[in-house]
Amino acid sequence: MTQRISHWIDGRRTPGTSGRTAPVYNPATGQCTAEVELASAGEVAGAVATAVAASKEWRHASLSQRAGVLFAFRQLLHERTDELAAIVTAEHGKVLSDAAGEIARGLENVEFAAGVPQLLKGGFSEQVSTGVDVYSIRQPLGVVAGITPFNFPVMVPLWMCANAIACGNSFILKPSENDPSASLFLAQMWKDAGLPDGVFTVVQGDKEAVDALLTHADIAAVSFVGSTPIARYIYETGTAQGKRVQALGGAKNHALVLPDADVEMAADAVVSAAYGSAGERCMALSVAVAVGDVADRLVEALAARLPKLTVGDGTHPDTDIGPLITAAHRDKVAGYIGAGAEQGATLVVDGRAGDLPSGGFFLGTTLMDHVTPEMTVYTDEIFGPVLCVVRADTYEEGLALINSNPYANGTAIFTRDGGAARAFQFDVEVGMVGINVPVPVPVAYYSFGGWKASLFGDSHMYGSEGMSFYTRGKVVTSRWPDPATSTVDLGFPRTR
Ligand code: NAD
Repeated sequence: MTQRISHWIDGRRTPGTSGRTAPVYNPATGQCTAEVELASAGEVAGAVATAVAASKEWRHASLSQRAGVLFAFRQLLHERTDELAAIVTAEHGKVLSDAAGEIARGLENVEFAAGVPQLLKGGFSEQVSTGVDVYSIRQPLGVVAGITPFNFPVMVPLWMCANAIACGNSFILKPSENDPSASLFLAQMWKDAGLPDGVFTVVQGDKEAVDALLTHADIAAVSFVGSTPIARYIYETGTAQGKRVQALGGAKNHALVLPDADVEMAADAVVSAAYGSAGERCMALSVAVAVGDVADRLVEALAARLPKLTVGDGTHPDTDIGPLITAAHRDKVAGYIGAGAEQGATLVVDGRAGDLPSGGFFLGTTLMDHVTPEMTVYTDEIFGPVLCVVRADTYEEGLALINSNPYANGTAIFTRDGGAARAFQFDVEVGMVGINVPVPVPVAYYSFGGWKASLFGDSHMYGSEGMSFYTRGKVVTSRWPDPATSTVDLGFPRTR
């Protein structure tokens, strides 16, 4: 019988009742390995009810109790990284070391959130008026939801739930239906770490479950990470329902390679960031803008590296690049390569050619030169192992290209000129910037988020912005009875 991947409600695996399921594949073999339950609106409502009840208790947990759970969860995550990485690779396809890497980056968020006693400290002003003090406190919202993409089934949920739970909320995760098993492993670890039942919930599902969360009156806030069209939909629908929403969308990340760059170092960095995780990262570099006479040297250095990369099953130690998430996505990416060639780009390396392992959703690495801004390989987020080289005559031309792109998630400049790097940092209209750093994902004590069509909402994710997102502020003005100063005063209160 096919394995069923269930929900996690009230501290236990909970079989679905909707009768709807979706197939889950091992992308390295192409085999269907399980069916994931797809929640109905009624099942979502039941899950929300348990989360509401749990949040009423959890908000009373002391800061040190909450920190204790986070420390225990962090320890379990650390000890069980290899098991969890194997689960990720079996459904996502990324190589095991990459899966372990995403767990390690997610773990940083747990470590950050374990500092909640310090992070939730408010302000205090004594004697704002005679005998009157003012202080600020931050309180949990109640029940918050996270809707996450397939490409980081551990790290992105941890971007959200660590902070949300530390702040005293109940958290409901709606993971991607492509790789849902990691969510249940996380749920079991939260329970083993001592988190009360109902504080961490998983509802598996598709649009129906998402819409039920977006329109449920008891969900106070929604965090979303995924593609731009869905991010826009989540933001518009959630905010129309009066919810706080942060919705992170897609990306088209440019590397700007200046003529003075160390070309070998830049090529290593760009190849790592373009083809790591088969290009299925929102911080993948998918465009290299080669300025001036660096272009030929750069393309040569990039092309020289590609034959050395092994495409295969992510569980094999010699594999560098795993399969894509589905056969349909592999075919879509391959379609972009064909379209790019037809539209006039030069196919330096064609990932469709050559020997690829059979069975799975594999595609080799593609390098396209002489790409121009109107080609679909440039305009669209491809989300696969495809790197486009656009040639620019000057730094200003390269910068203008980046700033005119509708996406603005990440970017990186490669140069040895500190002044040029400083100017780029100052002028580029992108949320996360690397200087000779190809994947500038902020550490957990900063916050993650792009600009423009890469983020809808006012709040970046995790770090201090995450603590703000999952709490609401309250300011208390206090005066204790002092008969010596007590008097009737009908005027508007003024400081004295
Ligand atoms: P996706 O937008 O297809 O799905 C994301 C989530 O939304 C999933 O949980 C899915 O079930 C749900 N969903 C899908 N269609 C929906 C609909 N019509 N209505 C309501 N919910 C729906 O994204 P994906 O393919 O899982 O992930 C890849 C995308 O995520 C890429 O565009 C990538 O750039 C983006 N991403 C962005 C970031 C970031 O931080 N900006 C990080 C990771 C991934």
